[in-house]
Amino acid sequence: MLTQNLGYPRIGNQRELKKACEAYWAGKSGLKNVMTAGKAIRHHNWQLQKDAGIDLIPSNDFSYYDQVLDHSLLFGAIPKRYNEVITKNGGEELDLYFAMARGYQKDGLDVTAMEMTKWFDTNYHYIVPEFYKDQQFKLFSTKVIDEFYDAKQLGIITKPVLIGPVSYLLLGKEKEAGFSKIDLLRNLLPVYMEVITKLKNLGAEWIQFDEPFLAMDLTEKEKQAFREAYKAIRAEFPYLKVLLATYFEALGDNTALATSLPVNALHIDLVRGPQQLDEVIAQLSKDTILSLGVLDGRNIWKNDLEASLQFINKAITAIGADRVWIAPSCSLIHSPCDLDNEKKEDVLTSEIKQWLSFARQKVDEVVTLKKLASGQPSNSALQQLEANKKAQAERRSSTLIHNPQVKERVAGITDADSQRANSFATRKIVQQDLLQLPLFATTTIGSFPQTAEVRSWRASYKKGSLTDEQYDRLIADETAKAVKWQEEIGLDVLVHGEFERNDMVEYFGEQLDGFTFTQNGWVQSYGSRCVKPPVIYGDVSRPVAMTVKWSAYAASLTQKWMKGMLTGPVTILQWSFVRNDQPRSATCTQIALAIRDEVVDLETAGIKIIQIDEPAIREGLPLRKADRENYLYWAVKAFRISASGVQDDTQIHTHMCYSEFNDIISNIADMDADVITIETSRSQMELLDVFADFKYPNEIGPGVYDIHSPRVPNRAEMGHLLKKAAAVIPESQLWVNPDCGLKTRGWDETKAALIEMVAAANEMRETV
Ligand code: GLN
Ligand code: ZN
Repeated sequence: MLTQNLGYPRIGNQRELKKACEAYWAGKSGLKNVMTAGKAIRHHNWQLQKDAGIDLIPSNDFSYYDQVLDHSLLFGAIPKRYNEVITKNGGEELDLYFAMARGYQKDGLDVTAMEMTKWFDTNYHYIVPEFYKDQQFKLFSTKVIDEFYDAKQLGIITKPVLIGPVSYLLLGKEKEAGFSKIDLLRNLLPVYMEVITKLKNLGAEWIQFDEPFLAMDLTEKEKQAFREAYKAIRAEFPYLKVLLATYFEALGDNTALATSLPVNALHIDLVRGPQQLDEVIAQLSKDTILSLGVLDGRNIWKNDLEASLQFINKAITAIGADRVWIAPSCSLIHSPCDLDNEKKEDVLTSEIKQWLSFARQKVDEVVTLKKLASGQPSNSALQQLEANKKAQAERRSSTLIHNPQVKERVAGITDADSQRANSFATRKIVQQDLLQLPLFATTTIGSFPQTAEVRSWRASYKKGSLTDEQYDRLIADETAKAVKWQEEIGLDVLVHGEFERNDMVEYFGEQLDGFTFTQNGWVQSYGSRCVKPPVIYGDVSRPVAMTVKWSAYAASLTQKWMKGMLTGPVTILQWSFVRNDQPRSATCTQIALAIRDEVVDLETAGIKIIQIDEPAIREGLPLRKADRENYLYWAVKAFRISASGVQDDTQIHTHMCYSEFNDIISNIADMDADVITIETSRSQMELLDVFADFKYPNEIGPGVYDIHSPRVPNRAEMGHLLKKAAAVIPESQLWVNPDCGLKTRGWDETKAALIEMVAAANEMRETV
């Protein structure tokens, strides 16, 4: 029985890689610094896993930016527009690499970055390979080989990690018509053969091929590609030890396919797909090793060792200990580095800390499980099991987690709680009576520039160098300025600006019971960007109002309508580490009740327009189509619970960005928000078509300008987009707003753009 790890976090314990990269990009230090930081992290990770006793330690799991981009460079899948960057830089591979990731705007060159998208249903984002009709591949980067060699110098024979050929192709995008990316397999495979040969020559024994798509819905053609690819690799290397790694879902209907591929070991995710063990064992061919992904690589809870042992023992009984491996469910890049970095009791209490396990602790758990599963576990292993059982039991019964009032309230939810009193048609009339808004009413999505100054106030306040009163005064003045300015330029529905908020989820998490935070629980989101998600450990409730103070204050400064601003239950859930002792839907419902209370309190305070942001609804969609309906059912219901406690004449808005709505439009309509604002400017309003085709009944604010760029659009451009919108959606339903919040923008461009936006709306009104 062996232990293995599929990948270790590469950001560094103190985010060293982020710091080195950003210093280099800012021109403050050299490339050498970046490489030194990378090397130190790799050595640290390898040594740590070796010391812990992991048998198969990964290499090439490290990346300076993204592992998919590493592979594009490995295979020479470099779009032509970077040719000049290559010559400009005198051949520094990392410069080319960063140019592909981030674009290149220097020395008279202006080359756009490659596209980025979500890595399955995680919050990690990868750089999308670009494929062209005449796509050729050739061995370009030797990173995977260099890293193997580097570890070997340290006396560690690692298991190089490659994204498997089929998944690599499926992750990419066809950039022109006339071919299918999966047909590129034949061009690609020879480069794999070359890489494998080099790794073998250096002494590699096992190679890990990540094929997460084996756990997704596949077409017949894609299935065939898997058969072809692994047959070809086997034919070329009869003695190579191939580990096929699947994760994020159960193999399901691909079980027969996966178990029939000529590989030596198959890894399955037993956290996402615990039910698959029996079926996989039943179909596994007789020499294949089964790697059991029993520890959650994507969440921060201590493993339930006893529960994992049940899986392991079952597998041992069925196929024998020498065909069983123990592993985390997936790469640990989705976990924070090390719980030992959490040292502040006032941030993370020791009671909660003892329930948690970060990457380093997970590695230890894997090894402990092996000791426990082997015939004669040592005393210390048995002690660890006892301690683990105790921690699990304490967590299960902790009063910190269980709040009987919350449970009672959830149990008492009725259909009426997720239902506004009357239909939208009725509400629209009373809302219009009260609000008296013009056609093409103008508004913004909530946040105004979070300038360095605003952020410095918050930092000083947290450090204690600003008192409550001083901080509040600064925020109040900033809010007042924003309100006054919005009045001056003639916006119809104002916002308070969200100056008091650090982040749209953290701000709420900090005020809700059942949430905690970490000091150092950073996880890579993309490139050098890391996030520190809140931890939902217990029943969620709202002790006191969270936003009423600032919204009511802002409202008191103006005669115009002030929109209240909240983050919705699905988005709060989606962007947090979520407890694993109850279904996600149950946690979401609890958050929904807390937000509902806030909505009602805002209404009571006289706020008659309330926006509940749900940008993450779409990204929560399950990976397998068959699971989607159930998710959409409870997610939409949670939103409706949060929104339905108000009178007919209170107008509920929701907001979503980065979304496509094609396949979920009926669910979006089912949310029954009075107004939805969406990001549409980059698609030139194309995203509106699906609303038009569906005859979406409620009101819509299609974004008329891209807030991701400092560029200031003029009224003609926005007017053009509005006309396009009005051509497909009745004008009585249309609002005018930017794509998203303006927190990342500066004031100058924000002011200039909004003045133009208001002018564009005025011009539209004149045309009707
Ligand atoms: N109200 C939030 C803001 O304006 C919405 C952010 C988002 O959709 N990501 O910042
Ligand atoms: Zn947005």
